[in-house]
Amino acid sequence: MEAYCLKCKQQREVKNAEEVMTDKGLRRLKGQCSVCNTNVSKMLGK
Ligand SMILES: [Zn+2]
Repeated sequence: MEAYCLKCKQQREVKNAEEVMTDKGLRRLKGQCSVCNTNVSKMLGK
């Protein structure tokens, strides 16, 4: 899984990736950037 890292300003591999459900019923991927360990998240849609 990849997500955009705000610190690297690039798509990065996500480690400890975890899918969470938002209160609007949308799925979101949460994890850390594999390069700089910044928290990243990405909307996955319905
Ligand atoms: Zn990063």
